[in-house]
Amino acid sequence: MAEVRVRFAPSPTGYLHLGSARTALFNWLYARNRGGEFILRIEDTDAVRSKKEYLDEILDSLQWLGLNWDGETYFQSKRFDIYRKYADKLLEEGKAYRDGNAIAFKMPKGECVSFYDMVHDKIEINTDELKDEVLIKSDGTPTYNFACVIDDADLKITHIIRGDDHIPNTPKQFMLYKALGLQPPKFAHMPLILGPDKAKLSKRHGATAVAEYRRMGYLPEALVNYMVLLGWSPGNNRELICGEELIKKFSIKSVGKVQSIFNIDKLNWLNSQYIRNYDPNKLCDIIMPRLVEAGLVKEDFDKTRFKKIIELFKTRFSNAEDFIQKSAYLFREDVAYEEGMREQFLNDKRIQKILKDLAGRFDGIKEKDFISKTIEEATRSFIAEVGIEGKDLIHPLRVAVTGQTVSPPVFDVLEVIGKEKVVKRLSSL
Ligand code: GLU
Repeated sequence: MAEVRVRFAPSPTGYLHLGSARTALFNWLYARNRGGEFILRIEDTDAVRSKKEYLDEILDSLQWLGLNWDGETYFQSKRFDIYRKYADKLLEEGKAYRDGNAIAFKMPKGECVSFYDMVHDKIEINTDELKDEVLIKSDGTPTYNFACVIDDADLKITHIIRGDDHIPNTPKQFMLYKALGLQPPKFAHMPLILGPDKAKLSKRHGATAVAEYRRMGYLPEALVNYMVLLGWSPGNNRELICGEELIKKFSIKSVGKVQSIFNIDKLNWLNSQYIRNYDPNKLCDIIMPRLVEAGLVKEDFDKTRFKKIIELFKTRFSNAEDFIQKSAYLFREDVAYEEGMREQFLNDKRIQKILKDLAGRFDGIKEKDFISKTIEEATRSFIAEVGIEGKDLIHPLRVAVTGQTVSPPVFDVLEVIGKEKVVKRLSSL
């Protein structure tokens, strides 16, 4: 049996949100760091609220994040006999009683529950503050606290890493361990993640589901890196960390007691860092469906061309929406000028004429030769002939074809826009 056995215990009553995903991540990291096991247990005792679509989505998101679990997936709904057996034992021993069809635990009075939390240090409470605890409801289903204790003991879980909203449950669970003569595991309660307004992170702060971030073009490595920083840090103000190094460095002991604040700008920054070094083919697969959805391209858009575009932009965007915003001019029929750009760069009749002449020059280039290098050569010799300063042509040229003053290198951009559109945009000024 591994020295460390942790578990992630989601309820399939909603999508996997960032808070739960971070809990899963910290458990997974702890297990991998210590050469232990990471168990997945589905807390689906509520037959009405538990949904297959949520379960599928949770499993899918965990796999996407790379949080692979060990051994079989446990389902509480398949373990009702086990809970019943333990509840009967407590009944027989007089530690529980019947309340109609329900079974309740008789909370002993005047006892001190004290435990050491790996994040919060000592937590202490007197059982006088606790009420009797229902173990099995009248409909026969176990309660969370009861099923949780039985399963954690039965699955030989050594450390429980979960959100600190569960701290009020822990003393009750301790008393159940005691009544059952079982050894409690160690606990680490992670501070919650807050929104920028310091309220618990929720939908009104924006997307909360991991699947939504996936859809928006965030990379799993970036999301994992971001989530681990919500509570832990590799030190020395370092922020980028992933893979084996992250596993090696991670430690629960250095998880802070203070709540972390969700910051989308930091997530965007991290994502842009991972995008830079990502496999372009994979990036294409991630971004392309979003472009199709935005109506900018059709599904049969040329893959080779799209890969070129991704390569051109990969140091410049932080997610799918950002990519779309920065690259839409490549796909749209016409240019949408940024405010004031047309007036500033293209109102001059002379420059309009020059750009139209340049369009003629481009038109003379064969379709298959309309590549960055040839376009640049043609433009350079045109510049020499006309006797204009390079920059006096390049800036208006960029604005004329992209509508903005900032873009990847202009000749590369012209290539990926394609000859037909470039010529059209320049000659219709
Ligand atoms: N199903 C519980 C939750 O999602 C698990 C809590 C625990 O880890 O004990 O909050």
